[in-house]
Amino acid sequence: MSSILRCLERLKEAFYALPSVTPKGAAKLATDFIKLSQEERVKFMNEISQASQSIKICAVCGNFSTADICDICSDTGRRDEVVCVVEDVMDVTALEDAGFDGKYHVLGGRIDPLNKVMPDDLNIAALFKRLAEGKIKEVIIGTNLNRKGAATARYIFNEIKRNFGNITVTQPAHGLSEGSEIIYVNPQTLKEAVERRTSFQ
Ligand SMILES: [Zn+2]
Repeated sequence: MSSILRCLERLKEAFYALPSVTPKGAAKLATDFIKLSQEERVKFMNEISQASQSIKICAVCGNFSTADICDICSDTGRRDEVVCVVEDVMDVTALEDAGFDGKYHVLGGRIDPLNKVMPDDLNIAALFKRLAEGKIKEVIIGTNLNRKGAATARYIFNEIKRNFGNITVTQPAHGLSEGSEIIYVNPQTLKEAVERRTSFQ
């Protein structure tokens, strides 16, 4: 294999490490990258390098942040007593677009025993630690409305009821259809679903 092909192959592997990139997509990105001018490549690498150095995980909610505690957790203008539990940081973005004004807790995935993802593998213990502090009065379970999201929601609901009986647990209203993933719901529908949230059942 020629050295440029080896170089392309390595780039392809690097891009393929991103979960949403397909093998074909990775090949396209690798080719796009080598077609950039030297100056453009340096600029691209600087952006990646700077982002890589500044990204942290918020010590409170598990969201991405550039500080130890994210902007949302440290925002005193938001409601502290309502926390929406979501699977992924992208869900936070979707709920922010929908105007949610409480706080978040990002699980970093969903319970998925077939793929060996158990509750201990997710950011769940930190949620219970937050609840034990006593400030949070309501937890909105905003996991995706598919089988794994529902199983994760059920587990969290049961644990909250068992350990924190005085905390209200709700879920977005049924305007969201079965199988919905939060990030694909349009902001207005998501806003209404959160506003008209109901007791978790
Ligand atoms: Zn945070």
